[in-house]
Amino acid sequence: MEVEIIMAKPTIAIVGRPNVGKSTVFNRIAGERISIVEDTPGVTRDRIYATGEWLGKDFSIIDTGGIDLSDEPFMEQIKHQAEIAIDEADVIVFVTSAREGITDADESVAHLLYRSKKPVILAVNKVDNPEMRAEIYEFYSLGLGEPYPISGSHGLGLGDVLDEAVKHFGEDTEEEDDSTIRFSLIGRPNVGKSSLINAILGEDRVIVSDVEGTTRDAIDTHFTSESGQEFTMIDTAGMRKRGKVYESTEKYSVMRAMRAIERSDVVLVVLNADEGIREQDKKIAGYAHEEGRGIIIIVNKWDLVKKDTNTMRDFEKEIREEFQYLDYAPILFVSAMTKQRLNQLPEMIESVSMNQSMRVPSAVLNDVIMDAVAINPTPTDKGKRLKVFYATQVAIKPPTFVIFVNEEELMHFSYARFLENQIRKAFIFEGTPIRIIPRRRK
Ligand code: GDP
Ligand code: GDP
Repeated sequence: MEVEIIMAKPTIAIVGRPNVGKSTVFNRIAGERISIVEDTPGVTRDRIYATGEWLGKDFSIIDTGGIDLSDEPFMEQIKHQAEIAIDEADVIVFVTSAREGITDADESVAHLLYRSKKPVILAVNKVDNPEMRAEIYEFYSLGLGEPYPISGSHGLGLGDVLDEAVKHFGEDTEEEDDSTIRFSLIGRPNVGKSSLINAILGEDRVIVSDVEGTTRDAIDTHFTSESGQEFTMIDTAGMRKRGKVYESTEKYSVMRAMRAIERSDVVLVVLNADEGIREQDKKIAGYAHEEGRGIIIIVNKWDLVKKDTNTMRDFEKEIREEFQYLDYAPILFVSAMTKQRLNQLPEMIESVSMNQSMRVPSAVLNDVIMDAVAINPTPTDKGKRLKVFYATQVAIKPPTFVIFVNEEELMHFSYARFLENQIRKAFIFEGTPIRIIPRRRK
């Protein structure tokens, strides 16, 4: 049995002045692990955050060069990007270029990094062939130790950089306390995340134990609900404003949201009733879905909406149309201002979290699957019919089912979806994604 353990992944941040090759290096390291929801066409350099693995260790990687601060002077921008790296990362990869040599901008980045005391790996990019290795020696003068020759476009030397990065990950990747439910509130600026948090924590029946700064990026808040369930609320950008210039940029807030999602059991996707649904909402919700997290859709500022008998039903219909893949997510209409329905929230989070961890006995599961196959015959392709032999649940968080079949390719998306729906009808998996994996029986 394989159970996913949620923990804060060590983070590598890439910094450096424009054109040294940061995004090339980022893409090489992130490889195909880059989430498809981030692959929105039309936006250059949309992808600045990804997860990866090296020597069996998972990590997150941020390309700070993609956080656009373009209305600021050149040097200020680079400084802010370095600041983000210093704030967010466990290890910083400072990219320079052998083709252009050391510039003033390189020197000022080096100076900031040097003062930060974070581990820095100095990478000299564009060393495309062995003859160019001689060019790296001048980079010792930056005072950041040994320069690593790399070539982002040829994929050279990156293994050595990652070997070195992994050494700095430390041993703090232990499991987090399992009795607490970790959740985060995700949404665009001004949807009311901070107000919701204050309202939740301000409820008489909630006991806030402490507000603690953890080692990495987060200020987590712990509290216990009336039922005695412990919760950990994970901080995201815009919740507790720290007053940094870059906090208001979209890329930064999306990146912070993604980091919070990775540490959460349950994600509350907060919408503003007054404004409807926007593209950024979908992107972040899509990421939570792909990561297999529990999801609750919160429609805040419900007090501002003029209502008649159908208002809630119409809004719900709109949400279901816009977020089709989230048909399993419960929707709660609330107001942080009047506290309407907020008392239902802890219980709802608890129930979604339980559904995420539910295990279905194989015998019952197989009854459901066989009944499903009986009412809706399996598809055929080129004269061949899909045969379903048996099913078994192999993981929780999210619940994952392996279906043993004669040929994997015959399990079309629509049939997998049908089986998922039948499983959902038979068992309560509200709020959690489900994974269906066809596997050929040996
Ligand atoms: P960024 O602004 O630092 O993210 O830099 P980019 O990744 O956008 O790269 C800037 C330019 O350098 C592009 O034209 C890349 O094709 C080029 N480049 C990146 N890595 C290498 C490399 O290893 N060798 C060479 N010769 N060019 C590279
Ligand atoms: P955040 O950026 O998502 O953390 O949003 P804030 O919590 O800072 O809220 C943004 C604005 O919306 C503030 O002016 C709040 O007072 C207001 N607001 C938040 N929740 C509600 C609500 O339920 N009803 C109304 N009318 N206003 C709200």
